[in-house]
Amino acid sequence: MAVRVPCLQAILQPGCEIMDDRLQNAFSLLRKIYARIPEFKCRPSCGKCCGPHAWSKLEENSISRYVQEHKIQPQKGFLEPGIPGCPYLSADKRCLIFPVRPLICRLYGVVENLRCPFPIKPRRILSRKDAYRLTNQVVELSGKIFAKIQNEDSFQEWKPA
Ligand code: SF4
Ligand code: SF4
Repeated sequence: MAVRVPCLQAILQPGCEIMDDRLQNAFSLLRKIYARIPEFKCRPSCGKCCGPHAWSKLEENSISRYVQEHKIQPQKGFLEPGIPGCPYLSADKRCLIFPVRPLICRLYGVVENLRCPFPIKPRRILSRKDAYRLTNQVVELSGKIFAKIQNEDSFQEWKPA
């Protein structure tokens, strides 16, 4: 007898009960990882170091839900002619997805080799090693949630190191 496997795209949509609990759990772990990054207050309407940046599949899912929920229209890149910017940097250079911005955007300005060009001091500077550790945690978590479709137990036991 043929077994019906739900389409991955369909089960990753908001409202799908199969994935929502798992994703909410993963989003909560993701927020815990983000909480380890020192606070940094950017200059208002700056956007100088904004995208395009890479982000994990889990973060992409979180962003896509936020964008749908808040009816945000992705922008065209406008930083410099010919160089595409982040689609979520508004024309007045605000981050349209600030609450769910990905890890790389949170690291900018607070890691020893990702310093802001302006004289703004973070509460604490992270080493490269710290930044790699956080990046690996997000990548690993993202891998677990998507692999979880096949292997539920590996995700249940996963905790950020
Ligand atoms: S980190 Fe610095 S350069 Fe980047 S957006 Fe914030 S203030 Fe601007
Ligand atoms: S997600 Fe926000 S902070 Fe990150 S590059 Fe885009 S506009 Fe900038």
